[in-house]
Amino acid sequence: MRKLLIAGNWKMNQTASQTEAFCLEFKAKGLQGHKVDILLSPSFTSIPAMISILGDTPVHVAAQDMCYEDRGAYTAAVSAEMLVDAKCSHVLLGHSERRQYFHESDEGVNLKTKQALKYGLTPIICIGETKEQRESNIMEEVIKTQLLGALADLSNEEILKTVIAYEPVWAIGTGLTATPEQAQEVHRFIRTLLEERTDMETADQLQILYGGSAKPTNADALLSENDIDGLLIGGASLKVNDFFQMIEAGDKLNS
Ligand code: PEP
Repeated sequence: MRKLLIAGNWKMNQTASQTEAFCLEFKAKGLQGHKVDILLSPSFTSIPAMISILGDTPVHVAAQDMCYEDRGAYTAAVSAEMLVDAKCSHVLLGHSERRQYFHESDEGVNLKTKQALKYGLTPIICIGETKEQRESNIMEEVIKTQLLGALADLSNEEILKTVIAYEPVWAIGTGLTATPEQAQEVHRFIRTLLEERTDMETADQLQILYGGSAKPTNADALLSENDIDGLLIGGASLKVNDFFQMIEAGDKLNS
């Protein structure tokens, strides 16, 4: 059985001192012995604050992006080596906000995926269709292009070290959630694509997260679906109680 992953994406929120306050309150709730994997993805500037408090807990810390090059004249970029040194274990790649506002391409996501794997970071590759794409019935094509683009040239062993996050763009930060059935249908489609790209054993083991207005009231129903292996949570991960409740929802299903 695939372990569930409950992951928070803080986007451009929380200063270092706000991060400290969150982490102290979060830690006090009890972070040991959960059945699910837990991950938080703060801004670069808050990573040290988070590690200083959560570094001795099982919580994984991820960056929200990184550069595809090792080092050098890439002003403002952050390298994989820097993230490893800062004690990140994962990195989000290709989030729809990066694609929409910063012109992230499938080729760029692919380069970054390879770079993350080279440094032992787990890439969480985000894919998903817009409302217009869903309505014009090109959703499957869009998802296939994004998925296979991100995984281009990777071996099955490398693909096994990635996590996929399906995030319908129309559901991110909008309060609109895909119904568990809608999400399951796309997750199944993604797993079938992964099976074609790799093999059944690899596709069976890969974690596919759902993201898009996930919250305590819908976490249980989403996580109960066969091919939904966790959640990537924006807004609700900024509230300690909400995020913790979603971890508990996962615990119940993983026990
Ligand atoms: C996200 O940022 O990946 C996300 C899913 O955001 P929200 O939960 O706020 O929709």
